[in-house]
Amino acid sequence: MKNKIFQRFGIEKVINASSWVTVLGGNIMPQEVVTAMAEAAPIFLDMVKLNNKAGKLIARITGAEAGLVVNGASAGQVLMVAACMTGNDEAKAAQLPNTKGMKTEIIIQRCHRNRYDGAFLLPGANFNEIGKSSNTSEWEFENAINENTLCISYIYAPFHKHPITLSRVIELAHKYNIPVIVDAAAEIPPSGNLRKFISEGADMVTFSGGKGIKGPQSSGILCGKTDLIDAAKLNSLNYHSHHANIGRPMKVCKEEIIGLMVALELFEKTDHEAQWKFWKEQSMKILNSIKNIEGLQVCLEEYDPNRQGPQIVIYFNHNWRGPSQKVIQMELLEGNPPIHIGYGGYKDEIWITPVTLKPGEEDVVADRLKKALLNNTSK
Ligand SMILES: *Cc1c(COP(=O)(O)O)cnc(C)c1O
Repeated sequence: MKNKIFQRFGIEKVINASSWVTVLGGNIMPQEVVTAMAEAAPIFLDMVKLNNKAGKLIARITGAEAGLVVNGASAGQVLMVAACMTGNDEAKAAQLPNTKGMKTEIIIQRCHRNRYDGAFLLPGANFNEIGKSSNTSEWEFENAINENTLCISYIYAPFHKHPITLSRVIELAHKYNIPVIVDAAAEIPPSGNLRKFISEGADMVTFSGGKGIKGPQSSGILCGKTDLIDAAKLNSLNYHSHHANIGRPMKVCKEEIIGLMVALELFEKTDHEAQWKFWKEQSMKILNSIKNIEGLQVCLEEYDPNRQGPQIVIYFNHNWRGPSQKVIQMELLEGNPPIHIGYGGYKDEIWITPVTLKPGEEDVVADRLKKALLNNTSK
């Protein structure tokens, strides 16, 4: 089916077999979400009331005391830190990013560092990095805590190590009355994670709205303790517009707020097991088309916290004589339509996730992947 607007602007569709990555447009919103956004578009409304309703919904679904729609999990990261800095002090919120008189140090484990963590620093904070690249000891937390400690961050992302559990970090932090903030942007599915980190006692948690939840790409969820969520509101546009220095560039429009609310309701009603089963069937079709190629180890990897959904992973054995991972990837990208696959992780493997494949696209991927793998096998 040709999309008229895409034709007019000369934009090309791609097949996304590499999950809800930002560069390919996040996730696809269900039609109900798109319809709700269109319904919200021609209406003026009270954004404070809308946000309060959205906050209540987020609180109910996450089990947190309070919630707020934010402009992506990255904005959630910014607002969590700003909230810890200012509390309910309007003067402080007006002063940021000048942090004079405020605590600024975020304790972060080296094994949790990633390419998103710069957002934590935006309000004017700095990291106190502890631990080694793959391990942290408990005493390092207590050793790092000082009078300038603002909060402890805890980050869930693929291939991160968690030498100390979130619950234990919370226990340590709360001994010193220090809040723990969690970036769990892409941790859904499993759906249970929406409540898990809050139930373990995290003070605030942020999730992307445009990844597994299937809301608008630039939306996100922030949830946590009432006083801290109120402080996050103080730093974000819709509540105290004259003071919201930090949150102003991260405002969320009414269409996105409504869209995320509907997406959350749908997510709650989703039969996640049936969804998983369908993803698995798509994956198995791909696996079956390439499973007997010499030199390759083709596996279905399920329930690995580093993998989104039941993925097909292709490892290259020592006796592999075919094209390299890079060549295969390029070949798929250069075809029509371009196919984006995932690569890397444990080694230089290729992985294909069904979570962003539309029904039927698995056949196209299976076919083109097989051709790419069997190409130039003498090389
Ligand atoms: C995607 C992601 C983010 C950013 O989330 P947005 O909703 O795109 O702003 C932050 N942290 C991690 C670990 C992520 O995976």
